[in-house]
Amino acid sequence: MTTHPEAASLENLLHETRSFPPASAFAAQANAQPSLYAEAAADRPEFWARQARELVSWRTPFTQTLDWSDAPVARWFADGTLNAAYNAVDRHVEAGHGDRVAIHFEGEPGDTRTVTYADLQREVARAANALAALGVSKGDRVVIYLPMLVESVVAMLACARIGAPHSVVFGGFSADALRSRIADAEATLVITADGGYRRGAASALKPAVDEALTGAGTDTVRHVLVVRRTGQETAWTPGRDIWWHEALESADTFHEPVWVDAEHPLFILYTSGTTGKPKGILHTTGGYLTQCAYTHRNVFDLKDDDVYWCTADIGWVTGHSYVVYGPLTNGATQLLYEGTPDTPHRGRWWELIEKYGVSILYTAPTAIRTCMKWGEDIPSAFDLSSLRLLGSVGEPINPEAWIWYRRVIGGDTTPIVDTWWQTETGAIMISPLPGVTAAKPGSAQVPLPGIAADVVDDEAKPVPDGGGGYLVLTEPWPSMLRGIWGDRQRYEDTYWSRFRGLYFAGDGAKKDDDGDIWLLGRVDDVMNVSGHRLSTTEIESALVSHDIVAEAAVVGASDDMTGQAVVAFVILRGEHAGRAATPDGAEQVQAELRAHVAKEIGPIAKPKRILVVAELPKTRSGKIMRRLLRDVAENRAVGDATTLADSSVMDLITAGLAAGK
Ligand code: ATP
Ligand code: MG
Repeated sequence: MTTHPEAASLENLLHETRSFPPASAFAAQANAQPSLYAEAAADRPEFWARQARELVSWRTPFTQTLDWSDAPVARWFADGTLNAAYNAVDRHVEAGHGDRVAIHFEGEPGDTRTVTYADLQREVARAANALAALGVSKGDRVVIYLPMLVESVVAMLACARIGAPHSVVFGGFSADALRSRIADAEATLVITADGGYRRGAASALKPAVDEALTGAGTDTVRHVLVVRRTGQETAWTPGRDIWWHEALESADTFHEPVWVDAEHPLFILYTSGTTGKPKGILHTTGGYLTQCAYTHRNVFDLKDDDVYWCTADIGWVTGHSYVVYGPLTNGATQLLYEGTPDTPHRGRWWELIEKYGVSILYTAPTAIRTCMKWGEDIPSAFDLSSLRLLGSVGEPINPEAWIWYRRVIGGDTTPIVDTWWQTETGAIMISPLPGVTAAKPGSAQVPLPGIAADVVDDEAKPVPDGGGGYLVLTEPWPSMLRGIWGDRQRYEDTYWSRFRGLYFAGDGAKKDDDGDIWLLGRVDDVMNVSGHRLSTTEIESALVSHDIVAEAAVVGASDDMTGQAVVAFVILRGEHAGRAATPDGAEQVQAELRAHVAKEIGPIAKPKRILVVAELPKTRSGKIMRRLLRDVAENRAVGDATTLADSSVMDLITAGLAAGK
């Protein structure tokens, strides 16, 4: 143990030795080849320039690659011009693939729609003309507040087509969250819907827009375009509100894309707010599109006959990069599903995979752990044999959840790609390559070819293999954020002030003996118990590796004796849920789990308190919000919970903790 109080190394000892080398049949057909690493290392900017030329169509070819003279704001391919919507749609039609299905849409009530690339081209052109007719022009910001509909994809692409940066706000957010984002972006147009279907009922959206627009800082908004989805009664402000279908009906199906510079802003997107107030992250066009297409092709091994499904909402960066820009730029066929996984039954996702023959599935650990909790008999009732690759994103995936995902969903054969990235990075940064990397459950493993990452200590020195510290990115990458909207200083302070010249990701990480990277949780969440620095992720993974646990969240609560004490919140798997119902039962579960953590990691990591709960507080994007649990464990008022999916969860937990004292 080091004596430096801020010592970065984490001392948990969770060991994972399982390894899954690629099947030779998969490797033989894989898009990614081992030679990519050497190719990228030989000349990193030139490698990216090659990807940009091969995977993206340029109106004016670029001659410059990376310009880092205004660091930490990068410029990539800056003298090239292009259009993101043209890349995502038109060029596939021009290449003769107009009949290819772009989107299989499935509404929650079971309504379906098949959209080919030719259909998408007509719709996007119409929408672009409609936006232009409403006076939206290049550079104007458009806020999109929609459920998961084909129109949502069309709206984003229509903005891109006219060079108007979009800012998508998740459809589950409150009027106030919407208001602050409209005001921050100074949007001139809001695109919304009357409502959407959620958990079997029509749920209104438009009233939140009406309310938001009565608030401060929203007078820049001139119009509200409204998609009719549910047909429910909708209040109307004449002159301001316009039906989407009426605006599109009268619009022409031809639209010449507005060609923009590679560095023209494509979108602003707010982070999910797991660690604090959301930040408006700015992304531009050429580099972003390049890295989206490159990662989507190589990490997901996309082929012409694949049916791809990313379950993320378009309100998150994963929806931007891996529902809209990555797959469409690559001409993929994908599934878009409007609703929740348990409507009308808990097998809905697996039913959809069977129905559409989905071959690539990209989802989040929270969804996998929820399915573990519900029990494996549910997915086992469906034919999932079409799946050939699985992906994970959003949080560290616990090794046990990884194994379950591969065995139960992947038929014990599919590669799994655990992809680390952030809203700020724009696209996947650290991930195994399918067909190349021998996968280790729980580790994101290696930076992709073209990406440079490291784990450093407090002095910014790379830690040796086996050491722990802070994850940093050491070289600029094409899809990196170009800043926080309107606040260059905050951009520099947040990401570039901790370590000179290195991008500080805010995540703790370690390198194992092979040099593979393991994500250990947010730096803000690292616990210090009697001078030992413990990782939330490792203790949570130890808990999840016990048969009866489906999910766990661990926080450090201040403690007079030890500085901090480990407090764990656990959800039991369906068949064991009743075990903690009585005080005796709960005590026994706690004793068993404490002993289990001591065995897996060591006595130092043993939770001082374990609370069995029914739900955990999560952001709308499915990440556990440990800072709220820490507030509860330390008897503080619960902090900013505006991005929480279900605010009643915190009341339940507070009540449970009070009762269990
Ligand atoms: P905020 O920055 O406002 O707190 P956020 O960080 O939750 O919000 P995102 O950009 O959506 O918002 O999330 C990025 C974070 O998600 C990463 O920094 C990391 O902590 C976590 N993450 C994403 N993918 C993985 C992964 N495969 N393994 C481990 N952690 C991951
Ligand atoms: Mg973040």
